[in-house]
Amino acid sequence: MAIQQKLSLMIPGPTPVPEKVLQALSKHPIGHRSKEFQDLVESTSSNLQWLHQTKNDVLTITGSGTAAMEAGIINTLSKGDKVICGENGKFGERWVKVAKEFGLEVIKIDSEWGTPLNPEEFKKILEEDKQKEIKAVILTHSETSTGVINDLETISKYIQEHNKALSIIDCVTSLGACNVPVDEWKLDIVASGSQKGYMIPPGLSFIAMSQKAWAAAEQSNLPKFYLNLKSYRKSLLSNSNPYTPAVNLVFALDEALKMMREEGLENIFLRHNKHKLAMSNAIKALNLRLFANEKCLSPSITAIRTGEMDAEKFRKTIKNKFDILLAGGQDHLKGKIFRVGHLGYVNDRDIITVITAISNVLLDLGQITAKEAGEALVIASRYLNAK
Ligand SMILES: *Cc1c(COP(=O)(O)O)cnc(C)c1O
Repeated sequence: MAIQQKLSLMIPGPTPVPEKVLQALSKHPIGHRSKEFQDLVESTSSNLQWLHQTKNDVLTITGSGTAAMEAGIINTLSKGDKVICGENGKFGERWVKVAKEFGLEVIKIDSEWGTPLNPEEFKKILEEDKQKEIKAVILTHSETSTGVINDLETISKYIQEHNKALSIIDCVTSLGACNVPVDEWKLDIVASGSQKGYMIPPGLSFIAMSQKAWAAAEQSNLPKFYLNLKSYRKSLLSNSNPYTPAVNLVFALDEALKMMREEGLENIFLRHNKHKLAMSNAIKALNLRLFANEKCLSPSITAIRTGEMDAEKFRKTIKNKFDILLAGGQDHLKGKIFRVGHLGYVNDRDIITVITAISNVLLDLGQITAKEAGEALVIASRYLNAK
């Protein structure tokens, strides 16, 4: 058994937290109506706009990523509204459930788990909607349950051509990992959560709102109080919050966003891309198969099939031997796949370590040769060293 004191989180959230951010969390809370806190909100909201590549408002909500997605839906839509939901994994399924719970009429566009949503299906349904009855298109950019990234840029173009429907996008595991230029792609509502690319613990979520989304908010009749985004927008004008925010998480957010600015968006995206390539190619060299279609691998997470091997047992062995936590498969994929999160505060050493741990267990099981284990590392290093 490993000493269970040096846990390495390689799951798609919560993700590892840098020491600087942990220190920020451990400070005494301050009054949330103080000038000091207002300064903090001013700093975080401008850095959040930088991260989202937007001039529009980015609101901070106390609650996990699901709160931000729910807020996007209930603030802009009304009972009986027709919406398209893209569904190719567990999170896509969740947004269908939320939409139905609020009495929306859902048109589902789905795709087998592990494959991306087909943008042309969105185009077709949107083009056929001559009466402009479709009020929103709801989808997940990076589908964490399968390791697939959907072609948001193209789907967003088709939404623009429809001209009426809003886009409500779950960018929880894409924002801060790959390019999500909110204004350039004209995304209306973009939701994300603190425990993913932001490198801070769970508890905060973020929602970017376009002018078009705010205009839709004027028509929306779904019930809301705590998540009424108009209150958040109003308070933000004076760098404040409608209710008591998670003050210490805001300390952490400020620190994490400063670290991200120091690294720079391009470097952050390059790092995640490099880690994705190193992971996925090493996995193939270890005779394991990727779960997701290789043309649409998420930058944040690699899902791996284990064939005859029980993925849950494999994952437990890695945890016991190395104190590295990997994620399992969800629903029908439980026992069939495991998932490696490489999102947020992850460096090349983490990638090398997790590949080595996987190789070590495969070697023990007699599934690979020492030569194959070595080759996987050579391949990973090639991607990690690429300029
Ligand atoms: C983690 C995650 C969420 C948010 O889930 P919460 O548990 O509510 O934070 C939403 N969408 C995706 C794709 C995620 O990976």
